[in-house]
Amino acid sequence: MEIIKITPQGLCKGVLNAINIVNKKLDDPNTKRPIYMLGSLVHNRNIVQALSEKGIIILDGKTRIELLNEIDSGTVIFTAHGVSDEVRQKAVEKGLDIIDATCRDVEKSHRIIQEYLNKGYLILYYGIKNHPETEGVLGISPNIKVVKEDEDILHLPEYSGKIALATQTTMSFLEVIRFHQLILKKYPKIELLEEVCNSTRIRQQAVINQKGKLDLLIVVGDPKSNNSRILKEVGEKKAGMKTIMVENLEDLNSYDLSGFKRIGITAGASTPNAIVNEIIEKLPKGNLKTELVSNDYLLKSNKGF
Ligand code: SF4
Repeated sequence: MEIIKITPQGLCKGVLNAINIVNKKLDDPNTKRPIYMLGSLVHNRNIVQALSEKGIIILDGKTRIELLNEIDSGTVIFTAHGVSDEVRQKAVEKGLDIIDATCRDVEKSHRIIQEYLNKGYLILYYGIKNHPETEGVLGISPNIKVVKEDEDILHLPEYSGKIALATQTTMSFLEVIRFHQLILKKYPKIELLEEVCNSTRIRQQAVINQKGKLDLLIVVGDPKSNNSRILKEVGEKKAGMKTIMVENLEDLNSYDLSGFKRIGITAGASTPNAIVNEIIEKLPKGNLKTELVSNDYLLKSNKGF
């Protein structure tokens, strides 16, 4: 069996930044206690568990604004997925201290959407309904509508004003192009504000580069992680490979890998290297190769890491 470690892997800059911000504040005795977090800091169970063990109270299962109703004092953490201004304002009104771990790429997408709203655009947002990032964006204005499936386009009203298609940061960049082409048939002047982050994009490109070269692709990621789920989708639909997604080694143990000769492993942007390494360690020993997305692609990309 040959194992191909598809890189880049490891935590993206947004996840690392969020963890650093929170850890620094946890170490600061002046940080007001108790410390609450609205949802998961990043979508990885191990990371969230570690923060919970350090004393952070993690609230989940409701919208950010509803979760805030459960907090009366102390400090609140906004996760890497970002929050709406309404949530921010409510936290201030409640007298809470704020730790803002929003990823800069998410902040940038909020800024761009706001600019277009100010110019009078209606915004269609290509994203996952009920995902925290989408929730944060929808809070910017009622003039934003979520779209995801092709059939959503059928239910959109006729509209001849200024209109733009913005995107969640962790979507498939190829699907964004396809969806934009489709929606152009309904709104010929719709502008594309594609905000897929570079950490997401280069992992997808690295998977596409493996097209036709693997018998099996393993995506290591938390089931809640959108960029991990999309990596699986890219492996299946864009690279046409048999693809499975596992959260950890225990998950992988339920699969029989004996029939596969060339197995590729990739991981979501919130999957710690240690989890992938543990899996590679336990796979039947054979050749281990590391394949990086081509330098050409990185050089052409203008979004930076
Ligand atoms: S995946 Fe992209 S948007 Fe999400 S935290 Fe990482 S860099 Fe930020």
